[in-house]
Amino acid sequence: MQSGKRAYLRFIRDLYGDRVIVEQSALTEYKNSISACTHCALSAGRTHFVFGHGREDADLMFVGEGPGEAEDLSGLPFVGRAGKLLEKMLAEIKLSREDVFITNVVKCRPPGNRDPKPEEIATCEPYLHRQIELIRPKVIIALGRIAGKLLIGEERSMKDMRGKLFNYRGVDLRVLYHPAAILRNMGLYDMYRQDFEALAGMYLKGRERGRDGMKGPQTGDNTGSEHGKQ
Ligand code: SF4
Repeated sequence: MQSGKRAYLRFIRDLYGDRVIVEQSALTEYKNSISACTHCALSAGRTHFVFGHGREDADLMFVGEGPGEAEDLSGLPFVGRAGKLLEKMLAEIKLSREDVFITNVVKCRPPGNRDPKPEEIATCEPYLHRQIELIRPKVIIALGRIAGKLLIGEERSMKDMRGKLFNYRGVDLRVLYHPAAILRNMGLYDMYRQDFEALAGMYLKGRERGRDGMKGPQTGDNTGSEHGKQ
């Protein structure tokens, strides 16, 4: 959807509410076009394809690893225990999941919550790239090593990725621990809160948090370059 049309639809939505928007967004059209995907083996065991959820022109876009059991059953991302922690962290910076967009690297649940295999990631990743093109976030937040590695384009440890600024095709890219990792080690909890506060300070400062996000330009194609530290 072009930016002028997007701004007009936002204006109408703010005025009258979502019920008057009868035209499908480009993101919804895209979701419908891929929701029956059977391109990799993960399709065989899924209950639901989990596209992602949230604001379609979000400034902050979170990318996790893959759906777990609760997500597979509901069709929504991050609705289990890890999702609750993510919601809590968002609430601490005065956001809800409706203010951001949340998705995963793979859209179907890996059995037994194992890591997605490289060939599954490679097959599914074009969907994520297209989602990013359509949403045009101000910052992408990779949650965990697998999402970080994919979007940066090289293997790195979490310790090496956290706290640094990367670039994904002209969009700021940051890597935070996956909330499931915090649940496994609550000793990291305070650090996690500080990471979210830092995100808010960098990307939400100086404007009302929530409905009226400013959109930044999206230019360039230098996936994976690191250009600074927090
Ligand atoms: S994980 Fe991705 S590529 Fe594999 S079947 Fe699901 S949507 Fe298709």
